[in-house]
Amino acid sequence: MRKQLVDRRTVLTATTALTAASLLPRTAFAQPAPASLPARGEFVVRGAHVLSMDNKIGDLAVGDVHVRDGAIVAVAAGVNAPGAQTLDGKGMICMPGFVDTHWHHWTSFLRPVMRTDDPKRTYFPVTAALGLHYTPDDSYKSARLSLAEALTAGVTTTHNWAHNVRSPAHADAEVRAMRESGLRGRFAYGPALGMPNDKPMDLADMARLKRDVGKDTMLTVGMCSRNIDGNNTARGAIDAAMATKEWTGAREIGLPITLHTNGSASIQLLDGANLLGKDVQLVHPLNLAEKDFDTLAKHGAHYSVSPLGEAGRPGEMQFAELMQKGVLVSLSIDNVTAERCDCFACMRMMQTVNKHRSGGKFKLPTKRLVEIATIEGARDLGFDAVTGSLTPGKRADLILIRTEAPNIAPIGDPYDALVQLAQPANVDTVVVDGRILRRNGQFTALDHDKVTREAADAVASLKTRAKWT
Ligand SMILES: [Zn+2]
Repeated sequence: MRKQLVDRRTVLTATTALTAASLLPRTAFAQPAPASLPARGEFVVRGAHVLSMDNKIGDLAVGDVHVRDGAIVAVAAGVNAPGAQTLDGKGMICMPGFVDTHWHHWTSFLRPVMRTDDPKRTYFPVTAALGLHYTPDDSYKSARLSLAEALTAGVTTTHNWAHNVRSPAHADAEVRAMRESGLRGRFAYGPALGMPNDKPMDLADMARLKRDVGKDTMLTVGMCSRNIDGNNTARGAIDAAMATKEWTGAREIGLPITLHTNGSASIQLLDGANLLGKDVQLVHPLNLAEKDFDTLAKHGAHYSVSPLGEAGRPGEMQFAELMQKGVLVSLSIDNVTAERCDCFACMRMMQTVNKHRSGGKFKLPTKRLVEIATIEGARDLGFDAVTGSLTPGKRADLILIRTEAPNIAPIGDPYDALVQLAQPANVDTVVVDGRILRRNGQFTALDHDKVTREAADAVASLKTRAKWT
């Protein structure tokens, strides 16, 4: 059975990919997904509670979703599809996969080094110190670890916010991990940790990677800007002149831009330098000034909210103010060393913070939260023509969530169940681009023991090289 699921159009296999990749031309990364992924077939999810997140289609209390060759063919009650495989959706919610819009996959395998109760071993000091010693293989094995976790939690699109690209080979390694995972996503090409602030990032290699990827509905390329507000100098502290040089260069290549912020300073600098635009995603809407909301709305910039981390930081999470001004807000995981990949908990945290701050004056219905975690994320990343909703013609990125589990059953309103009660363990099936990557809560092809073992070995070796004690 497993053999029949193998996609034979490519030559790489999971076990030889690492060695073979170094022998292949750079354009190998523009090739279709590796043979380790299950093939796309034809199937119908039958009898599920379908939440399409498409306003024209709406929700179906008992509905079917027909998928063929990676695309959604129909979303309706009683789909007729002779010969198609049936996925029993009874007792399940069927919805689009979650869209993460900011995640530092390169930091994921640092879990054994982290301690949240020891200031020397929290996320920032650990990543700043060990990040200087990463090999491309470390980047690959760390990214592979959390891309696998993303699938277990129902995330089907991710924004790989790679702010430690130490060489072109590091970029290629993370892209290879994304290709092999089967997830859809954007690779945001960033700086190397510790590089001088007066040295520009490698725009030529960003252009090379963008050319290699070409037109692709699975993978796009963007740029991670270095920090421009001086709040975390380990992540860069560039001035307006360097920001202008790099952002202009990225736009000439056609790369969207993303930036961490903390407070009003970066917004004011970007506005003063005429750098804000629809192609800009900012991360962490904390400590903004009132004037910033109008500025961001005027320029069409987006904001990614990482609720689990931000709720523990000084200042106010200002997504409500942004949404009231019409700024597009999306949801992100950030990292899975200090946080966890749990979009249900992220939605719940946004709801809780909103109630805590406004006492319910700003309306944030549960359906709106699910939209933020799906279609709004797709809009943020420019993937909304291909994913984010169950719409015929879009690519098939969908998840099935068990509603008969002890923590949900008996189910009432499905959106309430998702925001208030559901957990990643309730995600039964995950489909990306028509490939069934998880079924019955298990990977269909990925060897997770191997991924975990190799990540553990790699981080142990990294610690030794870095003389970390
Ligand atoms: Zn971040």
